[in-house]
Amino acid sequence: MGSDYIYQSQDDERLLHFRQVHTITDRFSMANTYLINDERMIVVDPGTELNVRQLQSYLDHFLHRTLDQIDLIVLTHLHPDHTSGVEALRKICAAPVAASAVVHHLLEGTRHNSSSMAHLAEHLLTGPLQYFDLFPPVYERQYKQVDIWLEDVVGLPGHPDWRVIASPGHTPESLCLYNPFTQELLCGDTVITIQGGAPLLRGSTNRQQLGETLRVLRSLQVHYLYPGHGRPILALHPLTNVDVEW
Ligand SMILES: [Zn+2]
Repeated sequence: MGSDYIYQSQDDERLLHFRQVHTITDRFSMANTYLINDERMIVVDPGTELNVRQLQSYLDHFLHRTLDQIDLIVLTHLHPDHTSGVEALRKICAAPVAASAVVHHLLEGTRHNSSSMAHLAEHLLTGPLQYFDLFPPVYERQYKQVDIWLEDVVGLPGHPDWRVIASPGHTPESLCLYNPFTQELLCGDTVITIQGGAPLLRGSTNRQQLGETLRVLRSLQVHYLYPGHGRPILALHPLTNVDVEW
């Protein structure tokens, strides 16, 4: 992994940027967990407890680093297949958990009218926030696990090279993480890959929002695409041809 890098210009050593993302997964994994191997490390989508155990042995065997060198856990969205291992991970590393501020804004805004999450879920499914088309009560557990709310475009705390890109579509709170220097994009379930097919953009009922997300992602210079499910893609323009699932 350490030998993977991008030459921007062979004459200019300053523009040599090492790829930072490691994929922690095996054929039994339901979802991919990613590790950003910065000076301090970031775990993106801890996945299941199995993924957390794999992460632990990966750090040990391949990077010779320890769990206390993780200083941030980021959730690309709150679905359980990407978040059920958060508690297991936090038992072994004290890093804070960060997720999209969209959830926080919607929940806090709605709480003025209701203190009940059950009522909230009902309200969201039938009320004016229809674009929040799936907000299961199970989110309550994830919501309580989040320490840091991430706004669109900001750099990650302590890791300013990694930018938050709001990418509503698969879920309203979906986000991607982008590093313009290494040209890596971690895209959660906004884009997944399926063997033999083009990258798949997963949508909801809001086509306009999904179209805007695709436009934003295509405007980024990306060479490495790391999806929430399926294999990472290394390509010059991985988002030129995509299938869209409404
Ligand atoms: Zn998923």
